[in-house]
Amino acid sequence: GPELFGTRPNSMGWDIEHAQTLTTVEHDRNVWRAHQWHAAPLLAGTAAPQPALTVDNPAVPADTPGQVRFASSADVETALSAATPWAADRATRAAVLNRAADLFEANYGELFALISREAGKSLPDAIAELREAVDFLRYYAANAPEAAPVGTFTCISPWNFPLAIFTGQVSAALATGNAVLAKPAEQTPLIAFRAVQLMLEAGVPATALQLLPGAGDVGAALTSDARVGGVAFTGSTETALKIRSAMAKHMAPGAPLIAETGGLNAMIVDSTALPEQAVQAVIESAFQSAGQRCSALRCLYVQEDIAPNLQKMLIGAMNTLTVGNPWDISTDVGPVIDEEAQSGIQTYIEAARAEGRVLHQLDTPSEGTFAQPTLLRVGSIKEMEREIFGPVLHLATFKAGELDQVIADINGTGYGLTFGLQTRIDDRVQHVTEAVHAGNIYVNRNQIGAIVGSQPFGGEGLSGTGPKAGGPNYLTRFTKRHAPAQAA
Ligand code: GLU
Repeated sequence: GPELFGTRPNSMGWDIEHAQTLTTVEHDRNVWRAHQWHAAPLLAGTAAPQPALTVDNPAVPADTPGQVRFASSADVETALSAATPWAADRATRAAVLNRAADLFEANYGELFALISREAGKSLPDAIAELREAVDFLRYYAANAPEAAPVGTFTCISPWNFPLAIFTGQVSAALATGNAVLAKPAEQTPLIAFRAVQLMLEAGVPATALQLLPGAGDVGAALTSDARVGGVAFTGSTETALKIRSAMAKHMAPGAPLIAETGGLNAMIVDSTALPEQAVQAVIESAFQSAGQRCSALRCLYVQEDIAPNLQKMLIGAMNTLTVGNPWDISTDVGPVIDEEAQSGIQTYIEAARAEGRVLHQLDTPSEGTFAQPTLLRVGSIKEMEREIFGPVLHLATFKAGELDQVIADINGTGYGLTFGLQTRIDDRVQHVTEAVHAGNIYVNRNQIGAIVGSQPFGGEGLSGTGPKAGGPNYLTRFTKRHAPAQAA
């Protein structure tokens, strides 16, 4: 069921506790400012081939962080036949994963630079992302069971958390003794390659962890083979459904699919809420990481009597955001991942503009794949058919007597990932959080940035299969005694 979290300090503001630390971080990141990385399949017993494709920096067209060679179908075959579950005992697996966490931390400057240049993420986002990756390694190491691996696990991860989610999936599968075939998002192979190199350096055997960079065809090959025992996937609901059918056709009955997918996340702000707190939480939830989080706020419901004031404050707060190159420390909102994402978001906004629904919009740099942070009016969440994965926030209003109808509409989307509530009425907290179907519910704070171990993350319905990542039940699904899957 959902977990309730109280207020905690926001993660959007760059909290400079020690100016000294920031200077060091910036210096160590700058060492990697012009570095060129290479990525290629990492297969047990074979040398990595020369890279061939250029990897883009979404914020700076002139900057290319490196090159990649995608896996061929021969590479997939090589990886599948070499994959061997990790036979080491529990303590050894845990020690190796902890050593990998140490290596990630020691190489932070390089990893921050990669996250910014390859994925277009800001330095605060990069810092949070490395922390999360390290947390996953240490948390799954600490909770590693005696081996009962499923066998070979395919891990398919997204570009929006190219280090954290990649590492989370891979380390969960390794902690439980599986052999891993890792397929990172096609947009972010370089950082995945470095992460795998560091894990191999830490002592993960080459036959237990192989990297297969590539596009959808590689993912499809790795999820439709009887030699694969289970799949961990984070990405779109549509792809998750395809994977589920492919698995049903080609893999053993009951093979686990752990899917974390999209959301149509809402926040309700009633007339008792603290307006400054609500606005801050909304800005962070909707626009941090340029809205490219599955947890991001998409539809804000504000009680009618405070709506004009709150809208004015929200627009004022939007105007203070700096949209630009995520390399710059002052940047709040970076680019979206690529041209396809940019044009999809633009088309969506233009359709809303034609209907006169654009309430406010920020400018962006002319170079790079930026999307304009935008506030749109919407009658109800029911009008939003799909998740727009970018800095687009929808604003709806409700009357005092309509709260339960709003909750029914939110539940009616079929998604159930994150939900936010801003109120100072205790009974309402109780009522609303019990009525809303969402994996992660946040009260009087933002609704992004779940913390490994204390805030397990994952949704229900169209948002995922469960169990939650970074929580006590997650590893069980990577073992032979896994719980039966919920319907996706
Ligand atoms: N775990 C992230 C958060 O809490 C979101 C992960 C995702 O976007 O896939 O914001």
